[in-house]
Amino acid sequence: MTKKNQIDTLKTLAKRYARAKRIAQHEALNALAAELNFAHWAQLATKAKQGWLPSAEQMAQAEAFVRQTHADAGEAGSFIAKSYSRPVNEPIRQGSIGGHGYSVFESFGDIRMEGDGWCILLGEAQFSQPMVEIEAPHADTSPVRNGDFLDAALVIADEEAAKVRAGISSDWPRRSTKPDAEGAVRHPLYEKKSAEWYCLHCDGKITGAQLAENLWHCPGCGASPIDIFSEPAWLNGSDVEPKPVELAVGRQRPEPKIEVVDSRPTLTLEEDSIALLLRTALLEDAATPAERIGAQLAEIYVDDEGDACIVLDEDLWPESKEPEEAIAVAELLGAELELNVTCMTFPFAWPGLGHATTSTREYVRLLLDAHEEQGVIRRESKGN
Ligand SMILES: [Zn+2]
Repeated sequence: MTKKNQIDTLKTLAKRYARAKRIAQHEALNALAAELNFAHWAQLATKAKQGWLPSAEQMAQAEAFVRQTHADAGEAGSFIAKSYSRPVNEPIRQGSIGGHGYSVFESFGDIRMEGDGWCILLGEAQFSQPMVEIEAPHADTSPVRNGDFLDAALVIADEEAAKVRAGISSDWPRRSTKPDAEGAVRHPLYEKKSAEWYCLHCDGKITGAQLAENLWHCPGCGASPIDIFSEPAWLNGSDVEPKPVELAVGRQRPEPKIEVVDSRPTLTLEEDSIALLLRTALLEDAATPAERIGAQLAEIYVDDEGDACIVLDEDLWPESKEPEEAIAVAELLGAELELNVTCMTFPFAWPGLGHATTSTREYVRLLLDAHEEQGVIRRESKGN
């Protein structure tokens, strides 16, 4: 490698670093020079003119320094493409804090850190509020209840979130994360360039600098980049005046929000589900085609207390027949079961045929034969 090449490589590395960290090129050059024990880039450049060359170790050190900004720096392929192609259940980092194991996952720019019965969610936007979820059975015993543990976990989640932000801004045009002299920035997804932007969600008016800092999420309401526009076209003809999104000086992200959640499968025994289970049991009790029709047409009522009443048709369900499975299911569900008989209209002629066989196929054949001999068969849709 010639001398010029090595210095050029350092400049390229600085460019990549600037992009990932969303800082000015000169700041990146200074950071890289500092990493190589120079006061600033100008000093490095002066030394280089006098014949100084970075050693192989120093080149490796510079590369590692830039690479740490995000996992994929220097590798081919965009961060977003990599993120999309990674299996959702493949962690980007694993480890343990105080003996409690964790895994970190990244998906669509968001970070999810998981342990036994707890989970921390961190959005892509710079100041998004961390959400901490604790599974109900661990509500009181979860390690994230401990402030020190939570702090340590957040440091790890933040490190990964910083890499994600660096990856995203490396993918985006430089002008999306670094305003020009007039404060104009380019939308990372749309072509537009402007110093003033508007949020479709909160009608907030946002400066280019605010958007660049917040990775194109609305600093007012957190809306994502697809909801940020250079013209508030949706307000045409309305009285709403977009209000500038004000940011407190020394802005900090909100404290983590801790929530107890219950993601266990839950069996909800309410009217519809009890009725469905009773009808399923009734179908099992039904031996003949008529009884099966009876089970399907039975009226099943479940009251507020979960007690049930099944009304069966006298022609479809023999009065002497106990629906044993339905009774057993009601007992399992703790439902008091009342059985009633009513008189409906049998849906087909010759109700007795429905009890003459246990086979539906046989019953249909009997129905067809009987109608061919003594009635009519009409094949048409209901509307005709
Ligand atoms: Zn907004």
